[in-house]
Amino acid sequence: MPYGKGTRLPGEAASKLGHLAVIESPWVKSLVEDFESAPAVDGDPSNTVWQEFDPSGIDPLRSIWAVDGSFVPVRSEQKPPREVAFVKTALLMLDKAKLEAIDKDLPHPLLLRDALKDTGVQHATVFPLKNVRTSIGTNFEAVRNIVRDSILIDQGGAFHETMKWLAYKNWVPNSTARSPAFQCPHCRKDISDGLANGADAGLCPHCGVEVYLSDLWGFHMEMGEDSAPESLASSYMLVMEHLMLFTAVRLMWHHSDRSLVTDTLFIKDGPLTLRSQYSKMVPNIREFLEHAKTSLRPVHIIGQEKSGFFFDHLTSIVRFAAPQNRGEPLTFSPLTHSYVHREVYRSPDVANPYGLKTNWGEKMYVKVDPGAFMVLNVPTGEYKPESDWPSTDNLIGLKRILATLPSLVSHKFEGALYPVELANGIASMSSYPSAAILQRFLEERASR
Ligand SMILES: [Zn+2]
Repeated sequence: MPYGKGTRLPGEAASKLGHLAVIESPWVKSLVEDFESAPAVDGDPSNTVWQEFDPSGIDPLRSIWAVDGSFVPVRSEQKPPREVAFVKTALLMLDKAKLEAIDKDLPHPLLLRDALKDTGVQHATVFPLKNVRTSIGTNFEAVRNIVRDSILIDQGGAFHETMKWLAYKNWVPNSTARSPAFQCPHCRKDISDGLANGADAGLCPHCGVEVYLSDLWGFHMEMGEDSAPESLASSYMLVMEHLMLFTAVRLMWHHSDRSLVTDTLFIKDGPLTLRSQYSKMVPNIREFLEHAKTSLRPVHIIGQEKSGFFFDHLTSIVRFAAPQNRGEPLTFSPLTHSYVHREVYRSPDVANPYGLKTNWGEKMYVKVDPGAFMVLNVPTGEYKPESDWPSTDNLIGLKRILATLPSLVSHKFEGALYPVELANGIASMSSYPSAAILQRFLEERASR
């Protein structure tokens, strides 16, 4: 997803609200008055605790991998309109030495392109959303099979292998683990024992129909029999970003140069989160990262959030934090679960600990210099529900990550990172064929 434009809005003409009848309510009146007066704040109301980072003696990470994705729904002009969604993801490796030679304020586009090694990998697929029929089955079956085939066919099956690696915990030598539990797409009963170790597919113990390992993500839970919502495309994008990132991690983990995986920074655009039914893989991801940490081969991963609650909150408080001048030390602040509930979501009394089922990284604010600040997610391996968790020591490889960050900051957008910008350029809409071509593609298909 692209970086947002400047976030500072011009003053709102709030008094436009004055003509509403509801203004007679004392509650609404107070709300409008507070909104209009906007008292000047002279300190951080969240009392965020920032720590200074000292990079002396810490080795920056040697190579950088970044993953990003995008999707675009396309509608035909016929009645009823046919609709498909194209999804594209990209994984890039960057040469850090070349990246460091680039002028951060006025980057030369050719030098930037040059910093990309030819190890970049792209993946793309297309889903039927509405009124598209294939001759071999329903839309429901089409989506299930496209998910399986897209993961299976590309890159000689490397992404499918990574799905199995995560599902069956293949970082453990001779693992006998079964897959996580998931819902049968046919009878909708829970396959609570998962699939047998190593299986690509199996029979549902309840209805006897074949289920694929790729069904464990639960894409079918988003769909109707004859149509699928646009969110299916964003969910697939998210799953593929995870599979691509962990393909790089997996290959390096099993590489003969055992230090390779630990000397690399892996960057994912967006939070380190898998929501709702897609969260079934989260415990396994945490378990691998914990295993890597205790094996003294820590894996350095960050996710960057460029919009949303955390970004808005950081934007509102960052001016109170050091560094106030360029050249002063970088500062950072790991966010505890209670801070997230209290200050970011403003809902201190929620029942569940923050991120319990869905997050495989914890949140952190970083201010590199007065114009560069960001919301990062950093894994901890094992998750702890405590409200005062995590602290600095829980974030895997934090020191080396922070020692690497300043060389990756681009000044094109507030708090942008070059690797993410480049991955975004490859995965973005602009590199899709134009919408007109996509539409013609749809219409030609329809007339056959
Ligand atoms: Zn079944």
